[in-house]
Amino acid sequence: MWRAIVLTIFPEMFPGPLGLSLAGRALASGIWSLAASDIRDYATDKHRSVDDTPAGGGPGMVMRPDVLARAIDAVTAPDDGRPRLLMGARGAPLTQARVEALAAGAGAIIVCGRFEGVDERVITARKLEEVSIGDYVLSGGELAALALIDACVRLLPGVMGKAASGEVESFAQGLLEHPQYTRPAVWEGQSIPDVLTCGDHARIAAWRRAEAERITRERRPDLWSAYIEGGERAGKMSRT
Ligand code: SAH
Repeated sequence: MWRAIVLTIFPEMFPGPLGLSLAGRALASGIWSLAASDIRDYATDKHRSVDDTPAGGGPGMVMRPDVLARAIDAVTAPDDGRPRLLMGARGAPLTQARVEALAAGAGAIIVCGRFEGVDERVITARKLEEVSIGDYVLSGGELAALALIDACVRLLPGVMGKAASGEVESFAQGLLEHPQYTRPAVWEGQSIPDVLTCGDHARIAAWRRAEAERITRERRPDLWSAYIEGGERAGKMSRT
């Protein structure tokens, strides 16, 4: 079973949307589990405070290292091999390759920041790895954690209807996905590309590959360069 532990001051946000649909069915059937731990339970004052004013001044509040460390230590044993992630805009952006690596492991311990962020000392002392879900700022790590868990859970064996449906998707081969069509055959005067109804699987595969390449080139020059370089490297390797 893939096991996620989330540390948050809003445990009621979990499983939230992950309790529905594919992820929700997989949760109910025991393919994965989710424990949301309330960081406030580890506060020591009567107001259950988890934050305090920033050293050096400035707006907002910062999560205290002592309270957060107690929360982490309470839910993880020192020999717990699961990665300890801190959702944060400063982290390395999450990629499909990282999601695949996480999904192949035992699960994850995920800390959700709030306020202006987390005291730096607990990040180092508890070896938290910062992970971002994109170059924008959320008001808390919870939605980021839900996104990360969703991306992992759909890859777990038995979660997606057809196991193969993950293999041709965006990012799987370093390309964005080709366009998709379904019935009706003609809609608002637009028909489905002929090649998709010709029944020739090799031609369909070639068309899809060419479209995936075109879309990647047009929309994501960064992915396109990496794809081209990867192809050149693979080509060189096979020639030597
Ligand atoms: N002052 C911080 C932003 C704090 S936002 C900064 O400038 O980086 C509050 C919390 O939301 C963060 O602690 C983090 O847990 C979460 N968060 C914000 N943006 C995020 C993102 N892009 N990816 C993952 N988590 C994010």
